[in-house]
This record gives sequence, structure tokens and C-alpha cells, in this order.
Amino acid sequence: MIRSILTLPDEKLRQGSQEVTSFDRGLNKLIEDLTQTLEVQTDPPGLGLSAPQIGIFRRVFVAKIRNRIKSFINPKILRVSKGEVTFLEGCFSVPDLYGHVMRPAEIDLEVQNKNGQKTRVHYKSLPARIIQHEIDHLNGILFIDHVHSQNGKIFKVEKTKSGKEQFVEVTYA
Ligand SMILES: [Zn+2]
Repeated sequence: MIRSILTLPDEKLRQGSQEVTSFDRGLNKLIEDLTQTLEVQTDPPGLGLSAPQIGIFRRVFVAKIRNRIKSFINPKILRVSKGEVTFLEGCFSVPDLYGHVMRPAEIDLEVQNKNGQKTRVHYKSLPARIIQHEIDHLNGILFIDHVHSQNGKIFKVEKTKSGKEQFVEVTYA
């Protein structure tokens, strides 16, 4: 089922999520809903979606990794690289806003699949970026928090008179 996505200023986005303890039909349904809801996002296309974004406060998200939607349950970052990279991030819960966020370039992740089986995986480049962004959602953190603490810039997508989209810097008083 396609679910609606919570957006700011909804305070529920700030709520932390609970570990998954039963790997049952309810979990499968949640993964199915997250996958379907991510698949229908085309403008902009989605790279990841977490359970709290659809109002389910469980430590689950789905992410497009090398063009396939994969589910992540109870993800834990075991190690991050010293090297950090900056990337322009956006989020369905923060419509039309984008900002540069600096994050570790590589991570070692422990994660469970929908049967509860644990694996450890090393991620780098875009997948590492998406996973860190989605884990933040499970802790009630949004990318704009990092932009603020890193003194970065926030951009808004605006349409010009001719209908072309452009990035305009947003300034806060
Ligand atoms: Zn997001």
C-alpha cells in the first residue's frame, strides 16, 4: 500500500524508533509499503525511505542500492571512515529544500534481513550516504540539522518565469 509521507513541521519526524524484535508478517507488510511508496516517487526520484517517515516508529528503512530496493532492519554503524565527503542532500520529509552535508565516506554496517539474519557489510560512495541519511531518520535527525551544525547553505528549488527549475539560497533571520 502506498502511504503518505510525513513532512516538516510534523514533530513526529523527531521521534526515535524502536528495534524490530518480531520478524513476522507485520514486518513484511511494512517493508512492502515502504518499497511501494518509494517506487512511486519520481519527482524527485527517491533513494531511500524510512519507517518513521510513514509514521511507523520501527528501525527499518528501504534504500535503492545499485538500482535495486533493499530493506535494512535494525541497522547499526560499527565503524566509519576518517575520510569525509560533502554531498547535496534532499528528503521527502523536507520538501523542496536541499543542502550540503559532510559525512564519513565509508561505513561498516551490521544489519538484519527480514528473517532476522544478521550480516556485516561495507558501504562506500552513494550507498553509504543514503544509509547514513536513513539511519538518522530512525533517531529523529534530519539532514537540515547537519547543514545547520556544519554552517552549510540551504537551497530551495524555485521555478523561473520560463518554468525552469533553479536553486536559490535560503537565508534565515
Ligand atoms: Zn530523508
